[in-house]
Amino acid sequence: MSNPATSEFRNHIAGEWTASLSGRTFANVNPADTRDIVGRFQASTLDDANAALAAASGAFAAWRRTPVVQRAKVLTGAAAWLEHHADVFAEELTREEGKPLAQSKDEILRSAQVLRFYAVEGQSFSGETFPSDDPDMTVHTQREPLGVVTVITPWNFPISIPARKIAPALIAGNTVIFKPSSDAPLIGYRLTEALVQAGIPAGVLNYITGRASEIGAALTEAPVVRAVSFTGSTAAGEQIHRAVPLTTRTQMELGGKNPLIVMDDADLDRAVDLTIKGGFSLTGQACTGTSRVLVMQNVREAFTDKLLAKVKQLKIGSGRTPGMDLGPLATQKQLDTVLAYIASGKAEATHLYGGERLSGPEYDHGYYVTPAIFTDVTQQMRICREEIFGPVIAIVTVTSYEDAIAKANDTEYGLSAAIVTANPRHMHRFAEDIEAGTVKINRTTTGNAINAPFGGLKRSSTSTFRESGRGGLEFYTQIKTVYRGI
Ligand code: NAD
Repeated sequence: MSNPATSEFRNHIAGEWTASLSGRTFANVNPADTRDIVGRFQASTLDDANAALAAASGAFAAWRRTPVVQRAKVLTGAAAWLEHHADVFAEELTREEGKPLAQSKDEILRSAQVLRFYAVEGQSFSGETFPSDDPDMTVHTQREPLGVVTVITPWNFPISIPARKIAPALIAGNTVIFKPSSDAPLIGYRLTEALVQAGIPAGVLNYITGRASEIGAALTEAPVVRAVSFTGSTAAGEQIHRAVPLTTRTQMELGGKNPLIVMDDADLDRAVDLTIKGGFSLTGQACTGTSRVLVMQNVREAFTDKLLAKVKQLKIGSGRTPGMDLGPLATQKQLDTVLAYIASGKAEATHLYGGERLSGPEYDHGYYVTPAIFTDVTQQMRICREEIFGPVIAIVTVTSYEDAIAKANDTEYGLSAAIVTANPRHMHRFAEDIEAGTVKINRTTTGNAINAPFGGLKRSSTSTFRESGRGGLEFYTQIKTVYRGI
């Protein structure tokens, strides 16, 4: 499916849709059919990054003084725009990222909901008043915006992650530079467009695309940048965290190796459904995706049989074809990485199912693999330790609750973890014993509420500030303590 009239999409800097000063663009490719170029985007350079920094810096003084009610109107206006265009934008999101259409639409509507949430929450977010020992003096804290903030996001949730970073930043009065992933930049463009048509003033939100190696350091290390909110790989996030000036706040949401524990009192059908949903939705490319399943020895066989029977029924194909369970992997790099881990799994563990690259007219031009399951996995194996970020499940046998917790915690990551059990004591203890920022009991490792804090422990996060809910607003504001006497 060639695309003769490929559209070119521009940066949005200082209120203008501008071409990069480099004169170069790069292609956004459809992972379901690599002959289809979704669009061409600006290959920005240092000069473009500096223009975005200057624009955001120049717009801050007026935006911070804009009444919060007016800032909220911009967010709700953008939410309405996204809702109105959800079907068209969902098509575009599926075309650039690969996920099934229904999931794309959900993500867009959820992003609109996030904008609406912060439009309301931001209006009641304020400081505190403290009792004073001086009758002629009050003591209170007030919250103010930080200034210019940079938002850097991955391709797997290319609108909901930007929305949950940009909305709290804007409502709190910050100005934003937004760099989406080069592998799915179109839906971030649509989010920017939504805020622009809702009346965001020039320079308050700047959208810039390009290679991290060309513009990443400028956008994160410039002293004018007061905060960096980043979601992506642990390697990149830790590198940015180390490189920014001491005065720059960071919020880094990074990788995971998320366990799901199946106890012997669990409803095994439910455990299988939670494994499939957590492990294979988004083709295993969710940061909170289930990648290790720790199963009690006495139910392992029964669980594995049920899992295999269901996985064999999963439908794999283009996200634009109704009824597909799994779309393609998002990029060639993803495909190569996942296939390499599958080869490693075959060498070190017992290969139970899947992991083949699919071929045939429907698949030949896309990054399709069948979901893979390995068993007899032990703690030292690479498929048990390293983030794969693909549809690969490693089954580890455990002999007790304590053994399960020890193995689940034996990882450098701590993003999300789940247990399936009917035992209230294990439910209760799990929340305390597990080393993860998101703890799920009888639910999938994936998914999080927009009004509750989200983030990881250990190397899954820098453990500075949470995002989502009020945590998002805390990150983007600083506190002054004011003593006011008469
Ligand atoms: P990535 O780290 O390659 O890229 C993420 C973003 O950072 C991209 O926009 C990229 O261009 C940019 N980037 C990379 N290096 C940079 C640098 N040095 N300076 C500035 N920007 C830089 O990650 P990815 O492949 O896009 O996404 C997959 C990863 O994201 C996985 O590790 C996954 O676990 C993680 N992730 C985490 C969460 C979470 O909330 N914890 C959510 C989604 C994805």
